Amino acid sequence: MSVLTTARFVVTAVEPSQLPRDGLPEVAFVGRSNAGKSTAINVLCNRRRLAFSSRTPGRTQALNCFAVGPPEQPIGYLIDTPGYGYAAAPLQVKRGWDQLAGQYLRQRQPLVGVVLLADVRRQLTELDLRLLDWVPASIPLAVALTKADKLNQADRQRALRDVLARLRELRGAAPTQALLFSATRRIGIEALVGTIEHWLVPADPVVTGGGGDAYDADEPSPEKPSERSDD
Ligand code: GDP
Repeated sequence: MSVLTTARFVVTAVEPSQLPRDGLPEVAFVGRSNAGKSTAINVLCNRRRLAFSSRTPGRTQALNCFAVGPPEQPIGYLIDTPGYGYAAAPLQVKRGWDQLAGQYLRQRQPLVGVVLLADVRRQLTELDLRLLDWVPASIPLAVALTKADKLNQADRQRALRDVLARLRELRGAAPTQALLFSATRRIGIEALVGTIEHWLVPADPVVTGGGGDAYDADEPSPEKPSERSDD
């Protein structure tokens, strides 16, 4: 069973000083609002309502921290960042995002990996690209193209190829991968769990289990032909 199923809420940080202080590795989740980030976190942790999305653009910007590992001895944290890209968000909210999450991504010492969630139908938007600018080349990145069930096989493969090409341009040789993901059709879940576990516990063998729905930027490979592509 994945260690992510032990995830539990520990703290909401509205400023960096409130983040965990034990130096354990942290994996951050980022994405536009409505990209499917909360749904992804919940399905990765096999939980119903660990993370939930805020529909209120004016809400305080905060980082939600979840510990994983044995209760007395966590091995690391999952950090849920606020969704960005609310057209209606007041400027100070947008600035708050830049300040808190931007600073977190650029400077956080225990950060060992970033998962960017992006709707496969929109691919990487301007805001996603801006955000990627903040992820240091030394930090591994996994881009999960969410709601893959919304596209047919050919279209989702094309989207994945386009995103991989873009990521190569943007990140060069920096550790980067992209994968198709669907919470509802359970595409890419085990692969992403394996990646995150590997970031948190590098000595452990990577558990990909998903059988071909994860792609390294260097090695795109065909998707399992058996996956259905209906809505
Ligand atoms: P967040 O704002 O990024 O946290 O997004 P949510 O997780 O709240 O998801 C936004 C909407 O997308 C919700 O209506 C979800 O039910 C839907 N959604 C999330 N994941 C999937 C998926 O894999 N497939 C489909 N079809 N819809 C999804």
